[in-house]
Amino acid sequence: MKRALLSPVLALVLQAGAALGGVPAPATPRAQALWDAWPRARVSPPDPWALKHAGLRAAVDDLQTRHPGLFTIVEEGVSSEGRKIPLLRVGNGPKGVLLWSQMHGDEPTATAALLDVLNWFGANRSDPAVRELLSNLTLWIIPMLNPDGAERTQRRNAQEIDINRDALRLSSPEGRFLKAVRDRVKPVIGYNLHNQNPNLLAGQMGGQVAIALLSVPGDAALTETEGTRATKRLAVTVQRLLAPFAAGRISRYDMDYTARAFGDSMTRWGTATLLIETGGWAGPGEAERLVRLNFVALIGSLSAIADGSLEAVPSEDYARIPMNVREALFTLVLRHARLAGGRGLPPFTADLAFVVPGPFAGDSHHRREPAVVDVGDLAHAHGLTEVDATELFAVPWPNPPAGDWPSLKASLQAQGLAEVEEAALLAAVRALGTPAVARPGYEGPVLLYRPGAAGRLSLEGAILRGTLVGGRPAGTAGLPAPSAPRQ
Ligand SMILES: [Zn+2]
Repeated sequence: MKRALLSPVLALVLQAGAALGGVPAPATPRAQALWDAWPRARVSPPDPWALKHAGLRAAVDDLQTRHPGLFTIVEEGVSSEGRKIPLLRVGNGPKGVLLWSQMHGDEPTATAALLDVLNWFGANRSDPAVRELLSNLTLWIIPMLNPDGAERTQRRNAQEIDINRDALRLSSPEGRFLKAVRDRVKPVIGYNLHNQNPNLLAGQMGGQVAIALLSVPGDAALTETEGTRATKRLAVTVQRLLAPFAAGRISRYDMDYTARAFGDSMTRWGTATLLIETGGWAGPGEAERLVRLNFVALIGSLSAIADGSLEAVPSEDYARIPMNVREALFTLVLRHARLAGGRGLPPFTADLAFVVPGPFAGDSHHRREPAVVDVGDLAHAHGLTEVDATELFAVPWPNPPAGDWPSLKASLQAQGLAEVEEAALLAAVRALGTPAVARPGYEGPVLLYRPGAAGRLSLEGAILRGTLVGGRPAGTAGLPAPSAPRQ
């Protein structure tokens, strides 16, 4: 296969965390054993977003057949649209732990991990550590609280209610079910399992957040109680378990106390709750790596509760986990381009940040399409892909033909715009009649030209749907094509 090579100035600096993240600590034997065990334990699908209500039911039935007596479906809630919401009971210990996943229908990573956790418990029931876990704890698991949202791959339920803001009013059947389960089984610990915006940094010096943790407060004053100390210890435990596999990628979730949210209410009601938010890991195998981290975090931290080792974990280390940093990590940042201003303005130097949305909304407004999200001096920001455009002229081109880079390039060539003088190019942009302005929300391509001899510009590539495209034939001077981010 002939590979396109990028010219030297389109230099890529891929820094998806590893470059920023620091040196991994050695894994504890428990963490390493769990990490190594996951490929064998895995029953979840390659794409957690493909797991819908029917698939979940089939997977739960299959686990019951594989591991008779491992768990019982003690009760089934009913969603707004009549889908059944199974509550599983595993173990028979004195300490109750309630785990619920996917109360936001488009946040399935932990749901997949819970299936793998159940299979691992089943396959290792004779192991003394697993016996200890299941005789000290009773796990109450709701793997998919919002099946109607999952069916639509949307955050909210079929009533368009955010269940995680319905803990007080309880207008949603899913919220009422969760509250009723809590009130009946009175677990001491809760695990509230979500996905967050994947484009966050773990502290200003950290990498892309893979897992964010929050010891959920029970009041606005963030009063420390025995319960919140326990969940701080749990967060520190998870951070330590995962540090070897996700150095610099574990953070603290940033959220104020929210009385109508479920985690906060659970803590207030007496079930101290740990929030686990799965983030992102740009590059191949992202979804699987994140499920694997959840698998290690869940079993490792539950084991620490069961064997009492949690008590020795210093809760004050929680404050040292770096915070989520928002608006500082983007899919792609184009640096120091000379940008055609549009609106008749002269060109100026600017950075451009692009975001390619993931498959879920997260906790901000959902962008459906890749778009420019910021323009100007973005020195504070990081790109999962960085493009140095110091010598390039960047031109928004909002009327592209449908299709990919070859069709865009062919169209520009046909219009005589592949090799062109700047004035003629800008005149062609004006003639489009569409304002060609790279502003937040702009979804069109940004063409990248290199100035040559006698003021001629030469088309070199483009940012198309948030991705760098283009290049020169193999054999000319240049850097290799974009590779996967370092793992
Ligand atoms: Zn969520």
